[in-house]
Amino acid sequence: MQQKIISRLHGQAQNYAWGMLSTNPNCLVYKLTQKTSNDIKPFAEFWMGSHPSLPSLYENGEKVNLDLPYLFKVLSVDQPLSIQIHPNKEQAKILHTTKPNLYPDDNHKPEMAIALTVFEALVGFTDQQTIIQNIERNPQIIVKIGDNLWNQFLVAQNQQAQEILKQIVSIFLSLTQDEIKVILDNFQWPNKCNPSLFPGQKIEKYDVGYLFLLLMNHLILQPGQAVVLEAGLIHAYLRGNIIETMANSDNVVRCGFTPKQKDVETMKEILICEMKQPDYVQPIIEESNEYIYKRYITKYQEFACDCLELKPQVQSKQFKLKQNTILLCLQGNGKIMSEQGNHELSFGLTYIINQDIQVQFEVDQYLQLYSCYSQ
Ligand SMILES: [Zn+2]
Repeated sequence: MQQKIISRLHGQAQNYAWGMLSTNPNCLVYKLTQKTSNDIKPFAEFWMGSHPSLPSLYENGEKVNLDLPYLFKVLSVDQPLSIQIHPNKEQAKILHTTKPNLYPDDNHKPEMAIALTVFEALVGFTDQQTIIQNIERNPQIIVKIGDNLWNQFLVAQNQQAQEILKQIVSIFLSLTQDEIKVILDNFQWPNKCNPSLFPGQKIEKYDVGYLFLLLMNHLILQPGQAVVLEAGLIHAYLRGNIIETMANSDNVVRCGFTPKQKDVETMKEILICEMKQPDYVQPIIEESNEYIYKRYITKYQEFACDCLELKPQVQSKQFKLKQNTILLCLQGNGKIMSEQGNHELSFGLTYIINQDIQVQFEVDQYLQLYSCYSQ
C-alpha cells in the first residue's frame, strides 16, 4: 500500500505479568493503548515497530512491514523482569537456529533505556570490593563457592577476577531449590537493596535471582537519564516507566526472577563478567526559549532516540525528521505542520515518517515528543 509521507501508527501492548495493572494510574502503557477495558490486567510494554511478534498497524489495520532496524517501546514496570542478557549478532544466529522456540529472531538486541519517571534497575556487575563485602556477610554462600575459589577471588584482578566471577555465577545457577532456600532463609541483603524493592508476591520466595543482588549495580535513574545495555551485560528492570529503544529483536536469555524459561547453559556461555559502573548515555542538548531538544545517541547504528519539548507557539522552527522515524506524543497538544498537510498531536498519537521531511510544530500547550530512528 502506498503510504502518505506521515502516517498514523497504532502500537500494540504486551501484557507480561511484571507490567503495571491497568488500574494503576501510573501505567503509561495502558494509557497509550487508548482503549478502555473492564479487564484488570498488567500492561507491560507498548511496541512501536515492525517486529513480526507484534508489528504496529496502520490506520486501515494493515501491518507495518517495513523491516525497521529498531524497535521502539514504552515500558511500565511494576515487578522485576527476568534477570537477563542478550546475545550478540553471531550468538543470536546460532541460538535462533538451535533453539528457535526460545530465540525468535537472529538479531542482536543492544538496548537503551530512558527514564520517564524515577526508574530502578539492576545493571551489570558492581565493583569487586562491594561484591566481596556483600558475600562475606553471607558465609553460607562462601560454603557453596568453596574456600579455595573464594580466596582466589579476594586477590584476583582484571581478567582473572572476571573468570572467577563467572564461576561464582555458574555455581549460583546450579544450586538446587533446597540449597537456595537455606541461603535465603539467612540472607543478609546488600546495602540499599532490600526486600522493599520487591513489594509484590510475584517473585518466588526462593528465587535464585535474589543472589544476584549481591553482585549487581542497583541503579536509580531520574527522568531523562539513560543507560545503554550491550550484549552479554546482565540486567533486570525493577520498576518505573521508561522509553526503550533497541535493535529489532526479542532475543532474551533469562536466569531468574520470573517463571519464564531459564537457559542457564547459554547464560553461562555468553555472560560478560566485567565489574564496572553502567554506561550512561549523555544526551546532546540543544536549547532555546522555545524548545529543548535532547538527542540520545549510542554507537549502535540501528537506533537513536530524540526527546523534543516545545513551549506554546504558533509555528516552531523547522526540524528534520528522517525516513522511517516513529514519533510518539507523550504530553500536550498541537500539530505537525508540513508542506503535505497537518497532523494532530496529543497524548498517545503515534506517526511513522515515510521519507525525509522538514516539519514545524504548532503548540497549543507544552508538547513532549519522543522519536526513534536509525542513524
Ligand atoms: Zn534486556
